[in-house]
Amino acid sequence: MMKSTLSIEEINDIDELRKLINILNNKIELIESGKKALCDLIFRKCKLICPSCHSNSVNKNGKYKGKQNYICKECKKKFNGLTNSVFHHTHLSFKQIEQAFECILHLFSIRKTAQIMKVSTKTAFTLRHKIISCLKDIINSFILNGDIKLDEYYTSINLKGTKKENMPRMSKKRTSHGNKKRGISSHKICIVSGCDEFDNMFFTISGTGPVTSDMIKNYVVPRIRNVKKIITDCKSSYESVAKEKNWNLKQIKSGTYTDDDNNNLAEINSLHQQLDIFLSNFRGVSTKHLQQYLDLFCFLKYLNWTLDYSDQLIKFRNKICIKNTDINYLNVCDNYSNLNFYDIYKDYNFHPLKTTT
Ligand SMILES: [Zn+2]
Repeated sequence: MMKSTLSIEEINDIDELRKLINILNNKIELIESGKKALCDLIFRKCKLICPSCHSNSVNKNGKYKGKQNYICKECKKKFNGLTNSVFHHTHLSFKQIEQAFECILHLFSIRKTAQIMKVSTKTAFTLRHKIISCLKDIINSFILNGDIKLDEYYTSINLKGTKKENMPRMSKKRTSHGNKKRGISSHKICIVSGCDEFDNMFFTISGTGPVTSDMIKNYVVPRIRNVKKIITDCKSSYESVAKEKNWNLKQIKSGTYTDDDNNNLAEINSLHQQLDIFLSNFRGVSTKHLQQYLDLFCFLKYLNWTLDYSDQLIKFRNKICIKNTDINYLNVCDNYSNLNFYDIYKDYNFHPLKTTT
């Protein structure tokens, strides 16, 4: 028999090793098939706080189906380790949850994810959105500083998944790559974006139509600090904000790639191209979920830049499992963008099916 004091490196007997692998495989199988493991996973990684009022003064409150329940001493609400987490209200096993994370890393479609997880597309869709909704806090904590490049990314509104009776306009036939119209119409979504010399970045939906100084003030300014230099193209909306905020602003003239001091927008332009490819993987992202996908784009870049592929899944899972989400099966199709489609299309005066009273 193997001595417990022996370390794995010291075991050279192949039969002993095979026995050990069997024991480990059985243990992994046990964890993968169970849901209790998720609870343990969460508790290993985070402090025990109440999901409602965030108080850390909580008491144990009995067990249910092997799961420890708790009660908050402040607000008296009862909860367990899964409450408000990605894993709340799912009957999925640990293995299926891991597959969901893996499918997101591989940019698989919902249909393919559902096949791999052996669940319905709606279940796969809901879990994906629960997971990526948790990225918001992480992404918003990335603050740009030093040398910063700013630009905007424009894309068409996509009303995929909007019920007929909620449509603000007639549905459009899908075009392969958006429309090629020149200029920026008021029906284009403006995504303000930036990156800095330390690989921090942000992509935020700021409204529709060409970028305005208000959009920059509301969505760009909060994301930057300790500015050394800001490089943009020659839009005047940046100029007025720069004056107000005392930025050292370098603007690249249109039609040129660089100025005399070799300031350029190469990195941010390249990120825009990568975002194009990323979004096309999902065959048209609905605008109401677009911000979540932009967060995912930033997060996957961050993983790629900081970790080997083999560590990415674990980091992704561990970061997400301690976060709270309010997305569930019923509200997953709500509009999570900061856009009001009725306002954007109000000039259409379109009343679908129902006549307003
Ligand atoms: Zn509480």
